[in-house]
Amino acid sequence: MAEEKSKADELKEKLFHKRENAAKKLTQPEIAEADAFCEGYKDFLNRAKTEREAASFMEVRAKAHGFAEFDPKKAYTAGDKVYYNNRGKAIILAVIGEKPLEAGLRLTAAHIDSPRLDLKPSPLYEDAGLALFKTHYYGGIKKYQWTCLPLALHGVLVKKDGEKIEVRVGEEADEPRFAVTDLLPHLANEQMKRTLADGVRGEELNVLVGSRPFSADESSDQVKLNILNILFEKYGVTESDFLSAELEIVPAFQACDIGFDRSMIGSYGHDDRVCAYPAAEAIFALEGTPAYTAVTVLTDKEEIGSEGNTGLNSAYLEHFITDLCLARGENVRTALHHTKSLSADVTAAFDPTYPDVCERNNAAFLNGGAAFMKYSGARGKSGTSDASAEYMAAVRRMLDENGVVWQCAELGKVDAGGGGTVAMFLAGMDIDVVDIGVPVLSMHAPFEIVSKLDVFMTYRACKAFFEEK
Ligand code: MN
Ligand code: MN
Repeated sequence: MAEEKSKADELKEKLFHKRENAAKKLTQPEIAEADAFCEGYKDFLNRAKTEREAASFMEVRAKAHGFAEFDPKKAYTAGDKVYYNNRGKAIILAVIGEKPLEAGLRLTAAHIDSPRLDLKPSPLYEDAGLALFKTHYYGGIKKYQWTCLPLALHGVLVKKDGEKIEVRVGEEADEPRFAVTDLLPHLANEQMKRTLADGVRGEELNVLVGSRPFSADESSDQVKLNILNILFEKYGVTESDFLSAELEIVPAFQACDIGFDRSMIGSYGHDDRVCAYPAAEAIFALEGTPAYTAVTVLTDKEEIGSEGNTGLNSAYLEHFITDLCLARGENVRTALHHTKSLSADVTAAFDPTYPDVCERNNAAFLNGGAAFMKYSGARGKSGTSDASAEYMAAVRRMLDENGVVWQCAELGKVDAGGGGTVAMFLAGMDIDVVDIGVPVLSMHAPFEIVSKLDVFMTYRACKAFFEEK
């Protein structure tokens, strides 16, 4: 016999904000759809481990969906689809809407760079019969996490004559891998006294790339010579060509399901491909012409503060919107002022092994759905854009009306640390912005973990946002 709800339970239902597990809220077909969506996401993770690879991947996908290369002089009309590839490292995708640009755009922004080890300009050296690459880490990493892993080398070398050599070694089964060594515990007495932050130092992140000499001659640097000879034969490059290169060391393993229930994905580089993929797929999935012009920007350099001309602290996005407006005789300031945006980036997932850094009422949980962050930043909300109450209300209504399971979160406890996103740079363009994205376990580690349902909810959020009437 069903018991009648008590007055208190009824009131709780009416008055309390309830957090829900997406797995309980979604139907079985929806969960199956989420799992299928994540197969495409895993393929993207494996094919696009760097910003260049992600921008190229999305350019190919954009063309397949009928997007044409952006022409700044052309006046685009409703239904036109364009892409703009910024120097091969960032890409803007746009579908022109029915309304004037001055009514504002619907913009999602995510980043496609991830923490990694970059090769130094003069990387190769030989010591004790081993050939190694010196590296300079990119983004916020815990350095000790990068030792004793199979690693791959991705990137480009550009020769003096402009010829670009693309390198991708360590991904195929028959290719070699690389590694950063660590001390054996037997001889680590002194190292083990270091703090965790200092446990493995930046100048100790040297990548092992060879150990056989070129010949039996007594001359020095024979192992280095052998490696340079292999590279010359394969790519036609010499040591000087490393000076004009962008070579990135990333984990060599592939994305995989995590858990007996296969509910999660473990991979390198979820931050922020896990939002870039849904934001791009949402614009590709648009049917018909949207009311507002839809724009997805997949940007570079977020992990080092968005500086540089492929990062969102440069003018390239604003220039793109300006060109769209100018060609149609519309006022760009009015368009920007009315533009609404989602800064799609990850947040920390509550980790029961390390509960102390989070405050449970304002933490994001795995399977809690798309995590909506009013602000990120550090200390007294510095280094962020604090979304307005008005905009938060509009976004949560949009999410609720479109079946998005979502949660509201802060990055961690007050003063536990902090971090920023591109939100502040969008806000700097006079655009309304709020952060939304996928909670991540082990964020910034070589192997990060997300929930498949949260990925799908972020996709649904971006899609609903673009489809607003
Ligand atoms: Mn991020
Ligand atoms: Mn990050």
